[in-house]
Amino acid sequence: MLKEPPLDTQEWASSGSVGVFSSQTKEPEKGGCMETKAKLKILIDLEKQNRLNAEGCLACGHKFNLGDEVVLARGKWQGFKFIHEGEAIFDQGSDVYYERKYYQTIKGV
Ligand SMILES: [Zn+2]
Repeated sequence: MLKEPPLDTQEWASSGSVGVFSSQTKEPEKGGCMETKAKLKILIDLEKQNRLNAEGCLACGHKFNLGDEVVLARGKWQGFKFIHEGEAIFDQGSDVYYERKYYQTIKGV
């Protein structure tokens, strides 16, 4: 019996893996994030305006307008709340939006 595998694996690892690995790992990650981001983002319509303007935007204190882009975000409040998209940061590590100031506080930036 001849044992040759070590040579083969080494060659494969040094030549093939780098290129293949990076192109394979990047794509699904990107797609996943885009999907989550899209799921958390909505446009304000009349029904949502009525419902959400009971408290308004907790990040800036203003009311929502029709057509505003808002996202479900974590912040200094309990759980998730809708705030303007411009006031939120998407954290790729945890796959959720955070209110900017809150995010800077917890990340120590
Ligand atoms: Zn706002």
